[in-house]
Amino acid sequence: MLRLVLVGPPGAGKGTQAVRLAENLGVPNISTGDLFRGNLSQRTELGLAAQRFLDAGELVPDEVTVGMVADRLAEPDAVKGFILDGFPRTIAQADALSELLAEDDHELDAVVALDVPEDVVVARLLGRGRCDDTEDVIRRRQEIYRDETYPLLRHYGHLLLTVDAVGDIAEVTERVLTALSSRT
Ligand code: AMP
Repeated sequence: MLRLVLVGPPGAGKGTQAVRLAENLGVPNISTGDLFRGNLSQRTELGLAAQRFLDAGELVPDEVTVGMVADRLAEPDAVKGFILDGFPRTIAQADALSELLAEDDHELDAVVALDVPEDVVVARLLGRGRCDDTEDVIRRRQEIYRDETYPLLRHYGHLLLTVDAVGDIAEVTERVLTALSSRT
């Protein structure tokens, strides 16, 4: 049983690590970015409502995002735990998450921060080629990370495990697993 949040700037490798960690730990990986992109490709109402925010690199409003996460966490596979990738991204979302979990007497077990310098992440994103990876949008997403998401690291101080995320993909996964297993 593990309820885990992955935090890091866009381009830190959250998505890649979330997939690897989920497999290793036997819990589902829940990525809000993937959920939005999936809704968008299916042309659902939620996807269409989120589209302009994704295109601009802005945060999708909480009433859409939190509802989507609540529905996903209510699915049976998430009972055994989860890795959240890309949520929460603001203190308000963090509060919404702890309220959701508290409804079932649950709480987070750990928050893993992937630590990468900004010049490294921008270079990675420019090489990735996703359609919201233009330079302006990348810069905007970094700015939102700094202003809105970075404060979460302090907010989650007692649960926080900071992992150096520069280096080989497999090596970073090992570092996260080691940090998780050495938790007190
Ligand atoms: P990501 O795949 O995590 O980089 O997310 C891609 C885009 O989805 C972001 O730039 C936002 O527009 C949207 N998004 C993902 N997660 C959230 C969230 N927790 N709150 C608001 N918007 C989000």
